[in-house]
Amino acid sequence: MNRRELLLQDAEHVWHPYSSMSGANPVFPVASARGVRLQLADGRELIDGMSSWWCAIHGYNHPVLNAAIESQLQNMAHVMFGGLTHEPAVTLAQRLVELTPAGLDTVFFADSGSVAVEVAMKMAIQYWAALGQPKQRFLSLRNGYHGDTFGAMSVCDPVTGMHGLFTGTLAKQLFAPAPEPVFGQPCSKAHLQAFRTLLETYRSEIAAVILEPIVQGAGGMRFYSADYLRKVRELCNEHDVLLIADEIATGFGRSGKLFACEWAGISPDILCLGKALTGGYLTLAATLTSKRVSDTISHHEPGAFMHGPTFMANPLACAAANASIGLLLSSPWQDHIRNIEQALERGLAPARELPAVAEVRVLGAIGVIELKHPVDMKIIQPAFVDAGVWVRPFGKLVYLMPAYVIQTQDLQQLCAATVDVVTRHS
Ligand code: PMP
Repeated sequence: MNRRELLLQDAEHVWHPYSSMSGANPVFPVASARGVRLQLADGRELIDGMSSWWCAIHGYNHPVLNAAIESQLQNMAHVMFGGLTHEPAVTLAQRLVELTPAGLDTVFFADSGSVAVEVAMKMAIQYWAALGQPKQRFLSLRNGYHGDTFGAMSVCDPVTGMHGLFTGTLAKQLFAPAPEPVFGQPCSKAHLQAFRTLLETYRSEIAAVILEPIVQGAGGMRFYSADYLRKVRELCNEHDVLLIADEIATGFGRSGKLFACEWAGISPDILCLGKALTGGYLTLAATLTSKRVSDTISHHEPGAFMHGPTFMANPLACAAANASIGLLLSSPWQDHIRNIEQALERGLAPARELPAVAEVRVLGAIGVIELKHPVDMKIIQPAFVDAGVWVRPFGKLVYLMPAYVIQTQDLQQLCAATVDVVTRHS
């Protein structure tokens, strides 16, 4: 299919993420991707600043990941996971238990981040039901984002999470204000007052607190205090409420620690992983929990955890995940992240002087330019492409989260082009 025909058919039949079928916003056909470069069908080459939404941490078309999938394909692409098991899944589960914060010993594989969040919420509900103390509500944070399915959406920020459209169907959850102290700052008693009050008032109804540790992603790209997270963990213990950490975006090094919970030295009761789990190759997610939770669910009526996706623990995806984790751990990833952090800090700093910019902030391999007003995607998206970079802003946020393997020169070019486009188009 030639490029023109592809775009015509796309506009006619294909719905893209968070988009209308009116054809107002352009899409760009990609022919291939290698390393940190996307090759467009019209021959242009873009430096990728997005890692395909936090996923492609080793870059695209990586020989080790390709080989892992090709090798697994010789054995089996998929088998059902009900009543069967296989080496790629068991190896991956073992590795995740080893790498994640202490006390998370049971792994449930799911097929996307949103489903991993649904699974986490169901685990929390079944845990309390098993104990004979039914609790079915969740306490979440404003500016949080946890996915697009109904359970996940119910714990997303009620304004940016589009609750208005679905009020009749969405479960009514509780929301504490977004954490005020920023990353690096201490958290005072006053900072947690509203959170504590909600927890005290509704403790008999709250199955779990759910949050994104340290980095609030799609709900605002905010970096908050590790001390806040540590104190939330203490409050959950005090009030006998489970803590669900959604590390779907932050997992596997993005914030500078392998898992963002490590900044606070805490372990959640339930942990959600996804995105970079397979190095961006295939869709796979995992929900980990403690033996306390899995044993309690397993030893009480109905004696089983009630979830089981068709493509659970897909062997190709598990093989990609094992290879991706191997690649990450055998690389000096902390040095890579530190270098990216410094380069983002230097490269995005000039944006601080722009009148349209509210704030520039960087943590690990995440750089954010927050504007005072939302961007016009119709204008800014083609401008980024013309500048030779792939950057996809949302609302007031222009952000970069490159692959960990990006070279200094590419990163400098990415930052310079980003600041230049923001200067001209915001
Ligand atoms: N939680 C967080 C923190 C996320 O960033 C995302 C994806 N943006 C999700 C959950 C949902 O993951 P998925 O898109 O794979 O369903």
